Amino acid sequence: MGRVYNFSAGPAVLPEEVLREAAEEMLDYKGCGMSVMEMSHRSKMFDEIIAGAEQDLRDLMGIPDNYRVLFLQGGASTQFAMIPMNLMKTGKADYVVSGSWSKKAWKEAKIFGDARLIASSEDENFSYVPDVKSLEVSDDADYVYICQNETIYGTVYHELPDTKGKPLVADVSSCFLSEPIDVERYGVIYGGVQKNVGPAGVCIVIIREDLIPEEALPGVPTMLQYKTHADAKSLYNTPPCYGIYICGLVFKWLKAQGGLEAMKKINEEKAQILYDFLDQSALFKATARKEDRSLMNVPFVTGDADLDAKFVAEAKEAGIESIKGHRSVGGMRASIYNAMPREGVEALVAFMKKFEEQNS
Ligand SMILES: *Cc1c(COP(=O)(O)O)cnc(C)c1O
Repeated sequence: MGRVYNFSAGPAVLPEEVLREAAEEMLDYKGCGMSVMEMSHRSKMFDEIIAGAEQDLRDLMGIPDNYRVLFLQGGASTQFAMIPMNLMKTGKADYVVSGSWSKKAWKEAKIFGDARLIASSEDENFSYVPDVKSLEVSDDADYVYICQNETIYGTVYHELPDTKGKPLVADVSSCFLSEPIDVERYGVIYGGVQKNVGPAGVCIVIIREDLIPEEALPGVPTMLQYKTHADAKSLYNTPPCYGIYICGLVFKWLKAQGGLEAMKKINEEKAQILYDFLDQSALFKATARKEDRSLMNVPFVTGDADLDAKFVAEAKEAGIESIKGHRSVGGMRASIYNAMPREGVEALVAFMKKFEEQNS
């Protein structure tokens, strides 16, 4: 059997070229006689891998020199705690909750201080992004927090909030490197890489230098201080070496595609194919508000749970994998990340068309 079209929300599809390259280098990385998995993280070979990955990421995103790039472990979920542990100097922060991931982050922050909810879209099952044009940001907030792309509900911020000068902290796990962003508008950008960048086990944090506390706030373990990892260039302890190597290969692949401007165009075209079909379908309906639709995660339903289940089962037979929606929305979700080829989206739409004809 060949490769399927994998619409999983994460861990998710990776570029086939990258997987082939990794396979080729598996036993003998560039003539050093061992796999990247087997080499010391203190070796010159690995130093080139991690430094090269950081440089390529800086090039792709245009990361200014006063931002640090950290390759960490613990997934995006550990950042829900690390952010307040490092940034809540006055003990106060403002949160916008537009889905399950930002809600989790908000709840976690409440362990550490006064995490205030300043906007939410829970009233309509997170099907839209709250209006963030004139947020009531607190004067004493240390930061304003958002989840830029809510993976489960398929919504994205097309405009960043006006934070009234407070640092913006953004979880970009499911839209990482899907289009260019202006790094300087953020204080912290972070994401688990298993959605759009690489294999599970790496979390990338891009943080403005002045936000890294010189002195740790009381009670913060060494491993959970940004300073520890910034000072040691992500090599304080053993980093997730192999995952960082794969991320590095993906960064090179993205550069070869033409960088993030080119990815944005491709991603818009792919998403358009699917949304255009959904908008004229009599059977399927996209669940997110039109203005806030994500380019990466597209949830949709038929409105009939049995028919949804039938769709998911028959899709699998047709080589369309992991299309089942998250239980909190139901129905289906197509995650169409950078590595999903246009042909995959076309195959999905062709299958949906056929299913609609047969079931209405
Ligand atoms: C998947 C996801 C997370 C959680 O990531 P882990 O690495 O599993 O902790 C957090 N935020 C968003 C937006 C996600 O999509």
